[in-house]
Amino acid sequence: MLIYSEPVEKWKCYYKECNAHCCTCGREVTAGDIKRIAKATGKRPEEFADLKEKKGLFMLKSKDEKCIFLKGDLSCTLHKEDAKPLLCRMYPFLFDGIIYADEIVLKVRSVKDCPGLGRGKKLGKNFEASVEELGNRFVREIKDYLKEKSQGTKEIG
Ligand code: SF4
Ligand code: SF4
Repeated sequence: MLIYSEPVEKWKCYYKECNAHCCTCGREVTAGDIKRIAKATGKRPEEFADLKEKKGLFMLKSKDEKCIFLKGDLSCTLHKEDAKPLLCRMYPFLFDGIIYADEIVLKVRSVKDCPGLGRGKKLGKNFEASVEELGNRFVREIKDYLKEKSQGTKEIG
């Protein structure tokens, strides 16, 4: 259910060196992500997400071309809340599209010009397994949403 552009051997997120590049390009989220964020922050979904759904996906809102959850010190408000969107937990891989076929397939690519690529710890099988699991969960949550939508029982928030 997951296609990688290329493997990454070593990586660490040096977000202060790249001005939190990955948090400036919008973020696709599932209905599950929205529910978890709403629960953790006490905010209403419409306060932080664009609720115009596109094939089971939504977008987090941006402010001054940065994710609404990016703080002034470039850290993520949701980090300590343990409510980061699934895709944000997959860095240094970023969303690269979805194939909607018999099975839904998520495509991810390693972020270009990341200052952390080739630095930090060697990423082993555990990291690969956790990215895989996050990708599968992402796809599962899209499927669940689309199924509920077709049954008329979908609910956000
Ligand atoms: S993954 Fe790389 S490009 Fe993205 S925020 Fe971290 S250091 Fe910057
Ligand atoms: S939710 Fe956090 S990690 Fe994800 S894009 Fe926004 S600031 Fe970055």
